[in-house]
Amino acid sequence: MIRFASLGSGSRGNALLVQSGRTRLLIDCGFGPRVLAQRLARLGVVPEQIDAVLITHEHSDHVAGVAALAKRYGCPVYLSAGTRQALASRQVVVPHLEEIDPSAAFTLQDFDVHPYTVPHDAAEPTQFVLASAGLRLGVLTDAGSVTPSMHEALRGCHGLMLEFNHDADMLARGPYPAFLKARVGGALGHLDNGMAADLLASLRGDALQVVLAAHLSETNNHPDHVEALLARVLAGRPTAWQVASQHAGSDWLTIHP
Ligand SMILES: [Zn+2]
Ligand SMILES: [Zn+2]
Repeated sequence: MIRFASLGSGSRGNALLVQSGRTRLLIDCGFGPRVLAQRLARLGVVPEQIDAVLITHEHSDHVAGVAALAKRYGCPVYLSAGTRQALASRQVVVPHLEEIDPSAAFTLQDFDVHPYTVPHDAAEPTQFVLASAGLRLGVLTDAGSVTPSMHEALRGCHGLMLEFNHDADMLARGPYPAFLKARVGGALGHLDNGMAADLLASLRGDALQVVLAAHLSETNNHPDHVEALLARVLAGRPTAWQVASQHAGSDWLTIHP
């Protein structure tokens, strides 16, 4: 069994807790120590139980709390060379760094970690598929488009966390300045609802047990739109789904053999 829960998802902070056996990994840490501890406590976990942190990229909503977490609890932080350099150039000092090759799988206790690269306006953005006990959890946020290699990485997953960042019409009509609309909606920005739904439609299958929609924009999206899309794409399928929020994250979601 793999279980996973979002501690909060969106442009004001991200962290995903994933557990298999006795191993607990955090993907990204956009929350400071106090908020992180509170949100972990809701799930019955204390920060000391985090075995390692995987970082997707250097944007602050993904790394704001990682230095404090690594300093306080000594857990190793895995990241690409580009992400490491980007943090160093901003004078962000994080101890216990472990550089990864985004094209090579590696083992972290009960997990095989399969990194894959994505198009996003960061130095070397890397997303992850986590495999354990014959199960695969695919994670994808912060990508402006879907490439064939991303599709290949996510095929056959039993659980997915997928970015549904914005509704293209809401972004176009919304309050963002033109440059920001271009950035968010561009090929190095974020997946919109339509792109995410198309990706999900191409990945759905009998293996897929649960989908967590994530990284919703609070300005340019609405959970109701995403819920309606998920209901449509997954109609008649055995797949459960939930929408993660910025403030509350999600409940524990579970995938089974
Ligand atoms: Zn982000
Ligand atoms: Zn980002």
